[in-house]
Amino acid sequence: MMPHDHHDHDHPAPPALPPAARRLLALRALLVEAGHLDPARLAEVLHVIDQRSPRLGALVVARAWTDPDFAERLRKDARTAIASIGIDPGPAPLVVLENTAEVHNVVVCTLCSCYPRALLGPPPDWYKSRAYRARVVRWPRAVLSEFGTSLPEQVAVRVHDSTADLRYLVIPERPAATTGWSVERLAGLVGRDAMIGVQRTLSV
Ligand code: FE
Repeated sequence: MMPHDHHDHDHPAPPALPPAARRLLALRALLVEAGHLDPARLAEVLHVIDQRSPRLGALVVARAWTDPDFAERLRKDARTAIASIGIDPGPAPLVVLENTAEVHNVVVCTLCSCYPRALLGPPPDWYKSRAYRARVVRWPRAVLSEFGTSLPEQVAVRVHDSTADLRYLVIPERPAATTGWSVERLAGLVGRDAMIGVQRTLSV
């Protein structure tokens, strides 16, 4: 460091970035310098990610409710089916989980925060919290009740642990009083929490 004598006052030290952030920035700088990463392309990708919202997942759900052929294709190969309706499913393998009268599905990433970002946008803070990640696996009914979701005894609960190689999207049950509704209108009923599975019943 050069001698620093041209000031007659002290600068307050700026707050330091967390070590993980410093490592990330250093790594990014190295990758850019070595020509492995194009900063403009990175900015583009981040912009696309920022535009994602649960609205996209909701459109997938509503389409599955109204189009049995699409629902079948979604079960077999979710990414291809989703791409076929003009929605980018993201790069990671994806499986849809259908709630029924007998089974309720809920999603977690016990290791970190894997999440179908392409379809739901960034995950909520609670999804990334240690408390949710550790507890929903062991006490799913108790955790669901904290979200206001009380599962009847006869409904089995299945907890699905996401990984970098596998993401999940919960398809909630279609509310009964929605016969004849358009995909757009149905999608308006489907929120983020229902597609993670911490909410079971959709209000019409
Ligand atoms: Fe993760």
